[in-house]
Amino acid sequence: MKENLGIKRQVLIVEDERINMLILGKILGDEYEKLHAEDGEQAMKLIRENADTLSLVLLDLILPRMDGYKILDIMQSDNALKQIPVIVCTSEINSEARCLQMGAVDFIAKPYIHPEVIRARVKRTIELSEGIDLIRATENDSLTGLYNYEYFLKYSALRDQYYSDEDMDAIVININKLHSINEFHGREMGNRVILCTARCIRGIAEFYHGIAGRGSGDEFLMYIPHERRPRAILKIIEDNITEIVADTKITIRMGVYPKVDKTIKAEDRFDRARHACNSVRGNFNVRLAIYDKEMNEKEIYQDSLVNSMEKAMESGRFVVFYQPKYAIQGDRNVLYSAEALIRWDHPDYGLLSPAAFIPLFEKQGLIHKLDHYVWNEVARQVGEWMIRYDFKLPVSVNVSRVDMVAPDLDDEIYSLVEKNWITPDLLHLEITESAYTSNADQMVETVQELRDRGFEIEIDDFGTGYSALNMISSMPIDVIKLDMSFIKRIHLSDKEMHLVKLMLDMASFVNARVVAEGVENREQYELLKNAGCDMIQGYYFSRPCPACEFEKLIEKEISCRHAAIA
Ligand code: C2E
Ligand code: CA
Ligand code: CA
Repeated sequence: MKENLGIKRQVLIVEDERINMLILGKILGDEYEKLHAEDGEQAMKLIRENADTLSLVLLDLILPRMDGYKILDIMQSDNALKQIPVIVCTSEINSEARCLQMGAVDFIAKPYIHPEVIRARVKRTIELSEGIDLIRATENDSLTGLYNYEYFLKYSALRDQYYSDEDMDAIVININKLHSINEFHGREMGNRVILCTARCIRGIAEFYHGIAGRGSGDEFLMYIPHERRPRAILKIIEDNITEIVADTKITIRMGVYPKVDKTIKAEDRFDRARHACNSVRGNFNVRLAIYDKEMNEKEIYQDSLVNSMEKAMESGRFVVFYQPKYAIQGDRNVLYSAEALIRWDHPDYGLLSPAAFIPLFEKQGLIHKLDHYVWNEVARQVGEWMIRYDFKLPVSVNVSRVDMVAPDLDDEIYSLVEKNWITPDLLHLEITESAYTSNADQMVETVQELRDRGFEIEIDDFGTGYSALNMISSMPIDVIKLDMSFIKRIHLSDKEMHLVKLMLDMASFVNARVVAEGVENREQYELLKNAGCDMIQGYYFSRPCPACEFEKLIEKEISCRHAAIA
């Protein structure tokens, strides 16, 4: 943007006839700071020297040493100079079209007989060009000069207005692991990668007569006429950026929504391309994804789940199932506790298993709300069984990785326990091992706080991450849940059973009890019992079932205990 906003605008008058120069000078009056050039070379010199402050050039076409056309030509081919507006002053009516093509913005006819028209044109031209500068400053991303997201969307819609029959592709491009580049090589290096990607994307968009923009930090956008080989675009960009950082191969991922549906909003088209792009996140072999019918259906399905969650919670459509855990080392198998497992009784899709919605809710930031609901419902149910059967059955609830970063998680769960008149020892918390992998310090701190409140901590999916050993040595744990992938084949392979025995040893070393999950048959049960495993959860005893069915197991347990006393 010009620096001279608010002060006298600088105008260069290029005119070799003295009388015309004087007349123009007089017409413009004191309102402008005037510079004069009497030949083409002098004009070019003044234009270059004052490029940052010039608001306008009034240009005669016929000049000694270099004519007006040549000046227009030079200015147009220079990025900085072409921002300066030029009004051509001429008596040749026929030159009008040519000058406009060469970048002139307006005309003043010689001789100068209408001073007020000339003043108005000069004023308007300057205002317009400053307006455009102002717009440019807000339209463009300051680092790359590409359109920012908002204006990118506006211009893509505008492009459709002019070329409505053209098939267009919406493309979202993301630089993989830009944050690590920033972290390990510094922000300056990160910026170099961004700038290089931006340059490349602008070039590609220009080649296709399309538009390029920058979304958030590492995201770039293109709206271009349909390209049947999008892989070529991905390759061009990667070839350009891959070598910027020594020893680090930089890759991108790209999502294409081809032949966009122009009846949907520009924003939604790029959401689809972004959806495709995210579908290959973390997959370094597949870096291109095309938004297709299947993706569209999945998205509609997931959107409907996300949008109906709140209502489903209010109308009791989320149902807690219970699966028993039996202690197996005594004379008989004793119902020791249960795990609460959520189901969604959906009016359109039937009974949904957690796999259909838990990962989705985790991604959408909804899981904490649902888990809070489950924790409260379980605390209520445990309280109800305590009173009805005079029987204290601890139930474990799942605590998602995402819940672990909730502020004051210990206060939150404790208040649910109080509210439902039970004690913390009746609510066990299952925390997945992957929570430790993603944020060890946070996990240690939160587990400590929860244990201080009296909650039992069970480590879920034990052995599936890379941190089992680190984890059990860095904090006290009450129960370890052996993941069912380890249990599956113990009756078929000595090697697998050996692995389970190692984990049992490890648990006893840190004084943790062990639950084996996914036990389905008698052989597995006996092997685990002989190896000293404390508890078992699995289809061998019972599938997860609704509270009313689970109550039969409670009643059976109570009658066994009575029989033992009698
Ligand atoms: P998980 O915590 O590992 O739960 C154990 C899963 O194993 C459950 O699947 C259970 O039904 C299944 N299972 C139990 N015994 C057997 C068996 O003998 N054989 C086989 N093949 N499977 C068995 P489910 O109920 O589908 O839950 C899947 C996962 O969803 C859970 O894995 C847990 O991570 C998550 N989840 C369930 N409820 C909740 C919840 O309320 N909150 C959160 N955050 N996650 C939940
Ligand atoms: Ca669990
Ligand atoms: Ca588990």
